[in-house]
Amino acid sequence: MDLQASLLRWYRSNRRPLPWRLAPSVYRTVVSEFMLQQTQVKTVLPYFERWQSRFPDFESLASAGEADVLKHWEGLGYYSRARNLHRLAKAIVASPAVPRTARDWRELPGVGPYTAAAIASIAFGEPEACVDGNVVRILSRLTADTTRHRDGATAAKYFTPLASLLLSPASAGDHNQAMMELGATICHRRNPLCRCCPLVQWCAAAKSGSPVDFPRLQPTGIEHHSVTRAWVVKDGALLLHRSPPSARRLANLYELPSAIHLELDEQSFDSRDLLAKKKRGITRYLITESIYRVAPPGRLCLGDALVWISFDDLQSITLSGPHRRWITELLAKEASDQRNRILPSK
Ligand code: SF4
Repeated sequence: MDLQASLLRWYRSNRRPLPWRLAPSVYRTVVSEFMLQQTQVKTVLPYFERWQSRFPDFESLASAGEADVLKHWEGLGYYSRARNLHRLAKAIVASPAVPRTARDWRELPGVGPYTAAAIASIAFGEPEACVDGNVVRILSRLTADTTRHRDGATAAKYFTPLASLLLSPASAGDHNQAMMELGATICHRRNPLCRCCPLVQWCAAAKSGSPVDFPRLQPTGIEHHSVTRAWVVKDGALLLHRSPPSARRLANLYELPSAIHLELDEQSFDSRDLLAKKKRGITRYLITESIYRVAPPGRLCLGDALVWISFDDLQSITLSGPHRRWITELLAKEASDQRNRILPSK
């Protein structure tokens, strides 16, 4: 049996029963590929189901308002994906036919070479190889290629000819999904399960005994950043910052205001008012966010970007990143502190 046949046989008996595989359609493939960009399958699953119930096809998505679309993406991050998916649905509804080739898909908003190849091969069987971090890892290990790559994008470009050469043209969709599945479930970055791998007999890195040495990517340093945020409550409402519609990343999304939004000097924050310290990673940035209780600003005019949102209305707005989780935690803490103050101690 050759490498392609071994890979396909393994995939067809081991693939995870993911919703976009169980009931495939062009639309479901497109939505899943957008959601899976930079995001793991287990994170995407509940969002995918919720999205399908609200926007089951290109037409329902195209006719929805942007606020509705963003609300259903809340918590998945990288909101430009939701905006691009919305624009893509409008473009498809307005065009006479759904595109079939990777080249045509690349013309649509938010569709890069990887997504175009994935959609064209999975939905239409077009022989286009997908090359992402998973595929780079597998191919660099199969060949024990010692070339040092500047970053993932450069490595993907380097391995594209080999990926195309290995593609099974008659089963392009399954072949691409098999490579993704192998990278996600067997050829792990730190602990590859070579004994269970259908490609082990062709793998030079497994034979060398140190597959984790591949791929060779230049190390990227982690950059540390810190942000000071304010928890400002008045008359049952929370002060939030809303990014303007023209903002590149967070357009129309709400978040707890930072010291900069409030024009406050970070040195003026009192450590006794620190409510929470949160860490989060975005690509190569590690961000520490400190949230302080701050008295409501005395000035009457806060500007368009700072808005009071009543606690009752918090569910109806779209909060960026982890802000909903933080706000929910802090509101629960406030309620518990209040209860403790009211109830007499035993
Ligand atoms: S044999 Fe090991 S290193 Fe090689 S592709 Fe399979 S899991 Fe990856």
